Amino acid sequence: MPKQIAIDGPAGSGKSTVARQIARKLGYLYIDTGALYRAVTLIALRRDNDLNDPTVLADLAGSMPLEVKMKADGQPAYFIAGEEVTDELRSPEVNGKVSEVAQIAAVRKQVTQKLQTLAGRKGIVMDGRDIGTVVLPNAEVKVFLEADLSTRVKRRQQELQSRGFFLPTAAVEEEVRQRDLTDSARSEAPLKRAADAHIIDTTHLSPDAVVDAIIALIKRQKKSTRQKEGDCF
Ligand code: C5P
Repeated sequence: MPKQIAIDGPAGSGKSTVARQIARKLGYLYIDTGALYRAVTLIALRRDNDLNDPTVLADLAGSMPLEVKMKADGQPAYFIAGEEVTDELRSPEVNGKVSEVAQIAAVRKQVTQKLQTLAGRKGIVMDGRDIGTVVLPNAEVKVFLEADLSTRVKRRQQELQSRGFFLPTAAVEEEVRQRDLTDSARSEAPLKRAADAHIIDTTHLSPDAVVDAIIALIKRQKKSTRQKEGDCF
């Protein structure tokens, strides 16, 4: 069975919904890697830190007390020093600054180390921007999700609304465009499809259909690994 499943893609492509479901089906650990960059950003904003200071932000990333607990409905709840920050991590303020923080090489180094340590333990599904390219370059199954900009904006707007943030479509579109641009253009681990990733366009697909497509890829991978093992005898 493949041990590492990497799911990358831009904002609103549907990564976290499907990654969580796949992890649940397989009994694997799910890591929403964006939450780590969001937590560094949230703490820095609260402390009024300079978001261009790599030393302070890298220290924060290395010592961040972020905790995750699974709620009864299967949704993750995030805590910083005992305070639940699940909604705040996805607030417009954090959305507006997270890409700036995530482009700092020293921050990425700290976060990547944490993620690679977690990945060493057991079966894992991770979603993010650089999972197939940098964090888990040897993942057995890599997927790159895409969707039309208008669909991604609609999904983001609905997600914001579900957390009590009501923004006009134009503002959400501007934020998504800006984040895509910064994430794709940065020099350190930019948002990019790994050469061996399967592309799935989720524009017209339900989350269940995307999950089924990825599970099919995992089964195919499992079969080909078994065949390769068989070839040795
Ligand atoms: O996935 P999510 O929208 O929560 O990610 C928030 C931000 O964190 C992204 O826009 C990106 O700047 C950063 N990120 C990253 N690398 C990852 C995951 C997220 O740079 N692996």
